[in-house]
Amino acid sequence: MSVLPGGGTRLATMQSVRRARLAGILIVLSLPMAGCSAPLDPNEKPRNEMVDRQIVARGVRDARVLAAMRKVPRHLYVPAAEAPNAYDDRPLPIGSGQTISQPYIVAFMTEQLHLTGKEKVLEIGTGSGYQAAVLAALAAKVYSIEIRPELAKAAEERLKRLGVTNVEVRAADGYRGWPEAAPFDAIIVTAAPEKIPPPLLEQLGPAGRMVIPVGGFYQELKVIEHSGGGFVEKSVLPVRFVPFVGEAEGKPAPEPSPAR
Ligand code: SAH
Repeated sequence: MSVLPGGGTRLATMQSVRRARLAGILIVLSLPMAGCSAPLDPNEKPRNEMVDRQIVARGVRDARVLAAMRKVPRHLYVPAAEAPNAYDDRPLPIGSGQTISQPYIVAFMTEQLHLTGKEKVLEIGTGSGYQAAVLAALAAKVYSIEIRPELAKAAEERLKRLGVTNVEVRAADGYRGWPEAAPFDAIIVTAAPEKIPPPLLEQLGPAGRMVIPVGGFYQELKVIEHSGGGFVEKSVLPVRFVPFVGEAEGKPAPEPSPAR
């Protein structure tokens, strides 16, 4: 009579040993597979699609610019509520009534600067810090000025948190540029003045390139090349940017928005 319970126990023990061995094999098999299956960052696919469908398809060809656009995590530069839209083909709100440019515009403007990795770049209009991060991946050093202190502070903290170490952010009116760091190999302006601020032209180094939207309701994206002591200017694209405020408009800088 004691055989049955004893045999049953032995059987159960053998089964659990087998199950444990099988589980061990499964764990061993599944570990290396986790590393080489689906990409770990779920945003990588939408980001690559953004580059292929919105940027390559419209003619941006600079391989370094395309690589930077595939790398910089745009969804981490927009407010959390906008993260699901980060890879859409449009500008997005970033707070304080400002916007982060459409991905294609960021890539197109960056390509116009012909960066090779050695340059010192000035950006006017830090906003979220996204364009600055793209520039940081392509140049040696980026100086970025934002007139709204709350955006400047948030962008500076965000860039630091995301490990971007070659961008310096300053909360100021960008009209006068950054004279202590001038001359610059490239200048990019991401807000539109009616006329190009003369101090920015003065801070463009020999063979330097500037990309800047100019105008009011109707704006043209202009590329200015400093060559042979003169400036060669061409209009490359009709665009729509937020206004370049402050001294360019003959006004003092705006008050920071009330804290929310
Ligand atoms: N490059 C930004 C987009 C910025 S939108 C990004 O990647 O997110 C334009 C920015 O220019 C706004 O944040 C606005 O506050 C800023 N701006 C407007 N006039 C300015 C000025 N005179 N000096 C510096 N920044 C200015």
